[in-house]
Amino acid sequence: MRRRSLCGIFLAAALSLVWGCAGMDYASIATIAVKTTAKAAEASRPISDSEEYYIGRAVAARVLGTNRLVQDPQLIAYVNEVGETVARKSPRPNTYKGYHFAVLDTDVPNAFACPGGIIFVTKGLVLMCGNEDELAAVLAHEVGHVANKDGINSISKARWTQVLTTLGTETAKQYAGAGGQIISLFEGSIDDVFKTIVVNGYSRSAEEAADAEAVATLRKAGYDPGALSALLTKMMAKQGAGSSGIFKTHPPTSERLAKLKSIAPATETPSKLEAVRTKRFKSVKI
Ligand SMILES: [Zn+2]
Repeated sequence: MRRRSLCGIFLAAALSLVWGCAGMDYASIATIAVKTTAKAAEASRPISDSEEYYIGRAVAARVLGTNRLVQDPQLIAYVNEVGETVARKSPRPNTYKGYHFAVLDTDVPNAFACPGGIIFVTKGLVLMCGNEDELAAVLAHEVGHVANKDGINSISKARWTQVLTTLGTETAKQYAGAGGQIISLFEGSIDDVFKTIVVNGYSRSAEEAADAEAVATLRKAGYDPGALSALLTKMMAKQGAGSSGIFKTHPPTSERLAKLKSIAPATETPSKLEAVRTKRFKSVKI
């Protein structure tokens, strides 16, 4: 129980950062820009973990511009506990500022991961999950996108080269003194990530890689590795219900399901703890 309350505190802190601070974002990015200027001669270096975090936070702020958060502390703590459990067993257990999970107050089923580890799942998708293992599967898939840096990799190379080139010039020092201008350097990068994770979705190969990582992570964390295919099967049955939300960004396909079943056969014996977890899942009211 102590862990749950700690999760709640961390989540609250993270989200207050996201909510409270368009101005702080500018200042933070400006600080990074100044530090980066000296190094920016190498105009092709990858995006650092701290830059990934600040870009991800700006993307999360944009998501929260049009979505409300569920405020129920019990649900938030529970989703964070499950999310942290899978994140710890993922290929990328640590990010610059850690993982934070939040529930968006909409019935449209969806989930997406902002670069750096802020992960959103909607109330509609939590409701579609039949048990804790399926919720863990959703979160493990999203953690897989963070681990694979799919969000940050959607920033076009030309765009990032342009950012680095500008940071490497003398004008960057002037930008650094004016937050509103420095953010414009990163605005295009934030647009690229937002459009990919919220509007267009990733490529099929990125989805399949995140699925494969989710299965491996579920297995390591003691969850049912078949939970993702069970959820996907349910999604395929409901796909005719609409093409928004997760049906648009994560279309369940028979190929995707077949690949999943090949790596997580349904014959695996479920853990005896599954019933305990399902009871816990059902005790969290939504
Ligand atoms: Zn995905």
